[in-house]
Parts: sequence; C-alpha cells; structure tokens
Amino acid sequence: MNSDIERVLFSAEELYQRVSELGKLLTEEYYDREPLILCVMKGAMVFTSDLMRQLRRPCELETIAISSYREGVTSGSLVVDQPLSIHITGRDVIVVEDILDTGRTLDYVMNILQNAEPASLKLVTLLDKPSRRVVPLQADLVGFTIPDVFVVGYGLDYNQGYRNLPYIGVLKPSVYH
Ligand code: 5GP
Ligand code: MG
Repeated sequence: MNSDIERVLFSAEELYQRVSELGKLLTEEYYDREPLILCVMKGAMVFTSDLMRQLRRPCELETIAISSYREGVTSGSLVVDQPLSIHITGRDVIVVEDILDTGRTLDYVMNILQNAEPASLKLVTLLDKPSRRVVPLQADLVGFTIPDVFVVGYGLDYNQGYRNLPYIGVLKPSVYH
C-alpha cells in the first residue's frame, strides 16, 4: 500500500464488483436506448472506463472538464475548462462523476446540460458524501456512500497525484497539513 494512505476504503475487487452491478443496472435501464456517456474529467475517467465496459449497450463517450480554483478542496468558484460543444439535445445523457461532495460542481453541470434539452439526463456517481451537501442534489445511481473523509485513488487525486492507485483510500492528514 502507498505510505501516504491511512486506510483502504474500497479494494480493487470491491470496486470491480460494485461497478459491474452499476453497469448491469444501466444496461437494464437503457435496454432500448443508446446513451451518451459524459465523463467529468479528470476524476471520473477511471470509473467511466470501467463502467462503460460493463454497459452492454451501444453508447457514445464524451468528456467535460470542470474544475474549482483552489487545489485539493472544492471552492465556490467553478471554471469550465472547455466549451460545451457536445450535441446534447434529444440524447439520453448519463453524467458520470467520481464523487458528490457539496454538490456545487454537479449542480452547475446538470443545469447547463438540462438547458440543452436532452431526452433524458441521469447522474451516476461512484462516491457520495451526503453529510457535506450544500446544494440539494441527488444522484440517480450511487456506487458507495462514504463519511466525510478525503479519499484518493481510482481516478481521484490530491494535487493531481494518486489517481493511479487501483483502490480508494483515505489520505493521511499529514500529507496535506
Ligand atoms: P462538490 O462540488 O460536490 O463539492 O465537489 C465535487 C468535486 O470535489 C469532486 O469532483 C472532486 O473533484 C472533489 N472532491 C470532493 N471530495 C473529494 C475527496 O474526498 N477526494 C478527492 N480526491 N476529491 C474530492
Ligand atoms: Mg471531480
């Protein structure tokens, strides 16, 4: 295990199991549709990569990059790093996010997408920290609900590091203090 990790929350095997279940649920729900997967970069790229391979339906993949000004933690100010030129109107859009924390990021993204009039719009998040929510936003599908701890791995970063850990772990407070 990486020495900056205090404890493992979800092993690679547990992640694989749960992501497979989520893929099965989406396959059933979209049995007669060809969804557009919208990966929120960069944190959700590992999750999206695994999830879409468990979706037994034709689909398309696009990415959207959103970030907050401050590093490591979520600030109130969000920046869209790229213009949204993806054709959303009339599509069955599945937004895939790594973690739902205060909800500000996704609330912002979902509003922009809704304005483009998709046929349907769903939010899938691997992790959910409901105790931290400041905006009343709920995901349609949640991998795991977690307490208020800072996690890294499986795509999630701290200052752009740790994304390649195959598990999700709690970062030692000494790393960011
Ligand atoms: P929200 O807008 O919901 O507060 O923030 C969600 C974003 O904050 C996530 O996409 C992620 O980038 C970041 N974030 C929130 N909690 C964590 C965490 O525990 N670990 C990591 N690595 N990022 C987090
Ligand atoms: Mg993110």
